[in-house]
Amino acid sequence: MNTYKLLTPGPLTTTETVKAEMLVDRCTWDDDYKSVTQKIRRELLALGAVKEDAYTSVLMQGSGSFGVEAALTSVIGKDGKCLFAINGEYGRRMVTIAQYAGLNHLVYAAAFDEIPSVAVIKDYLEKDGDITHIAMVHCETTTGILNPLDDVAAIAKQYGKIFIVDAMSSFGGIPINIGALGVDFLISSANKCIQGVPGFSFIIARTDELEKCRGIARSLSLDLYDQWAAMRKDGKWRFTSPTHVVAAFAKALDELEAEGGIRARYERYKANNALLRKKMKDMGFTAYLEEKVQSPIITTFLFPAPDFNFPGFYGYVKNRGFVLYPGKLTEVDTFRVGNIGEIYQDDIEKLCAVIKDYMEGKNK
Ligand SMILES: *Cc1c(COP(=O)(O)O)cnc(C)c1O
Repeated sequence: MNTYKLLTPGPLTTTETVKAEMLVDRCTWDDDYKSVTQKIRRELLALGAVKEDAYTSVLMQGSGSFGVEAALTSVIGKDGKCLFAINGEYGRRMVTIAQYAGLNHLVYAAAFDEIPSVAVIKDYLEKDGDITHIAMVHCETTTGILNPLDDVAAIAKQYGKIFIVDAMSSFGGIPINIGALGVDFLISSANKCIQGVPGFSFIIARTDELEKCRGIARSLSLDLYDQWAAMRKDGKWRFTSPTHVVAAFAKALDELEAEGGIRARYERYKANNALLRKKMKDMGFTAYLEEKVQSPIITTFLFPAPDFNFPGFYGYVKNRGFVLYPGKLTEVDTFRVGNIGEIYQDDIEKLCAVIKDYMEGKNK
């Protein structure tokens, strides 16, 4: 059995107690199980700082991308047109989903190391009155850049557009006041900052907007409205639900609360990230992003030399207990280190000691 910790942004390192929840088989028809689903749905609203009637939540089988696809293809109707403000691979994935489903859309592609400009988004909205929706990724896990959710939400509101946010790698780890921002649809998944295991995604939605989505979906399995209509009755999922994952997620929510909620978890992640970046910098590594746009979730580092042997480095670090994440950029050689999940300062210290040994040639 492997014993390494995952410094990847999901799946990530989970607690033993979250994993232990999966040792029980549960019945999808039983009230006990259905009430777990309902409890999760309510708790997600509380985490998003929204009221229960104004907002609702839907759980969707599959990984995060299934949730994004369900939202985009169930929310943007034939008469709709979505502006995608993108600066990474997950933004591109949203565009690919739109292409597959034949959704009307426009793409504003910013550089991967820059946040989308609010002025440019405004310009798109001014020039094209047909735009009905704006979609953006909050933390672009491709690089670790944190996009300006507040500013774009404000513009969406000002212009009366529906705002769809992929907050996959930030929800639960960065406070997001969904209600105050007026975000209409927010998507995240079980295996990121809530620290559950992979198997479903979830959508927090403005109830009145979701109510308008009946009949829009291009796919039965990914029909967000239909999934909601079934689930809201009593917590029964439309099709087989990932029972073990759901139970683990409920436990992960309890543990998030015990930690002190999102604010406390955010502080832990921020401290992990600050320590990581400081220690890496001391060892001569350069971060890809400027500090002011860096999220507390994951950091991209440039290779320290053109001939840097990443597979060798990766294997050395893995054998000493930590799994890193390859880079996802084409123009520069990079690798990434996530600092979310059941990871503490002590882990970062140990990781950096291992990296230091490697860099000092103790691998030879
Ligand atoms: C993880 C992630 C996704 C979903 O990826 P899956 O592999 O489908 O879980 C989508 N967007 C962002 C920003 C992510 O970090």
